[in-house]
Amino acid sequence: MTTREAKINLMGLSLPKMQAFFLELGEKPFRASQTLKWIHQRGVTDIDAMTDISKPLREKMKSVAEIRLPQITQEFRSADGSCKWIVQVESGSSVEMVFIPEAGRGTLCISSQAGCSLDCSFCATGKQGFNSNLTVAEIIGQLWWANQKLAGFGVKPAQEWSEDGKPAQNPRPVSNVVMMGMGEPLLNFENVMDALSLMMEDQAYGLSKRRVTISTSGVVPAIDRLKDFTDASLAVSLHAPNDELRNELVPINKKYPIKELLRSVSGYMEGLSDRRVPVIEYTLIAGVNDHRQHARELAVLLKDFPCKINLIPFNPFSLSDYRRPSSSSVSNFRQILHEAGYTVTVRTTRADDIGAACGQLVGEVGDNTRRSQRYRDAAEAQKGNEQEFAVEQRSETAAEVTGKRFSRADNLAIEIDRPRRPSV
Ligand code: SAH
Ligand code: SF4
Repeated sequence: MTTREAKINLMGLSLPKMQAFFLELGEKPFRASQTLKWIHQRGVTDIDAMTDISKPLREKMKSVAEIRLPQITQEFRSADGSCKWIVQVESGSSVEMVFIPEAGRGTLCISSQAGCSLDCSFCATGKQGFNSNLTVAEIIGQLWWANQKLAGFGVKPAQEWSEDGKPAQNPRPVSNVVMMGMGEPLLNFENVMDALSLMMEDQAYGLSKRRVTISTSGVVPAIDRLKDFTDASLAVSLHAPNDELRNELVPINKKYPIKELLRSVSGYMEGLSDRRVPVIEYTLIAGVNDHRQHARELAVLLKDFPCKINLIPFNPFSLSDYRRPSSSSVSNFRQILHEAGYTVTVRTTRADDIGAACGQLVGEVGDNTRRSQRYRDAAEAQKGNEQEFAVEQRSETAAEVTGKRFSRADNLAIEIDRPRRPSV
């Protein structure tokens, strides 16, 4: 007899894998669409509730399969309508997901890994080290849960939204997904690809490719093979206009420098059937990458690279000495790019009353790399030194300012300029 652990989790099966599952049971592939609809559209997790499937077949399904979701352990609701959930995954770690409602759309920021191995210098997830890749069920389960929870709160689907000029009714509260939660999605490639296919599958969530965005720090070999698996939208975490600075901020740049990254991203975009451009994400850190000269250099770097630019003022957290730039320096930076002809957006802070402002997703990661301990030790040692030499230093860390953790939630383009041709 099959044990509980060995049972196949139907929650994590993409359409082709669900079809293969039914073929293996000696059944017709159309059962796959039926089952996907029950799980993802009607929110059913009990095979017995699938009433258009005969009882004997349901019994057969139950003997080898089940529907298993990650657990939601905490829930936070902001006065502005944003929500944050802590999700416990099978490895024992917890990750976070955040929902941000806006006029005409509701965006869910989803995690792909518990922790991250890449250790970008400004990112709290990276400081926690790496624990595990999320399974397909744990990734798509975040979308499943968010839709259920939001419907339970009475959050209505976005009234009407226009897709390629055609108005349509979005059936569920979440209309957009960004893979901008914890982890590097392209380092959990197969699972993320299957989860994306469910997000965009008509029998499941039916989200348009324009409304599902992968954010990557630049895993070039994975971007190179992306087009064979998906046509989702792409956001690239650039954060610096030259390799020297980017090597410091985004260490994977030492392996895949900017030129290779942009070449690889162009290759993906050119393979898409429609004219979409990638979003260049640029976290602005005071005194590090936010000088006017950096903006000018960025404008030159990207002049032959069609894109939109999203500026994200750095959100501080307790293990980082970096600071958020002033709003005038953000607006100067933006202005330089705008004058050079770029479409520039600036993320604004949302949901800070629930610790879900644009910044950091942390969860609780059972670090396999010991990195989190090293950072904590270094922070302790630093604190000791400071006390010893009586250095009076005001560090604007999240813990000092607000006494709470930050979450990276604000993944939305807020301030949109009219597109113009770059003129640098
Ligand atoms: N690993 C992927 C996706 C998760 S990070 C990636 O790096 O793209 C998603 C975005 O969160 C990154 O682009 C980065 O800009 C942003 N981010 C990380 N730490 C931040 C911080 N402290 N303040 C503001 N944005 C941050
Ligand atoms: Fe990982 Fe992205 Fe954080 Fe870098 S910014 S450490 S790639 S989650």
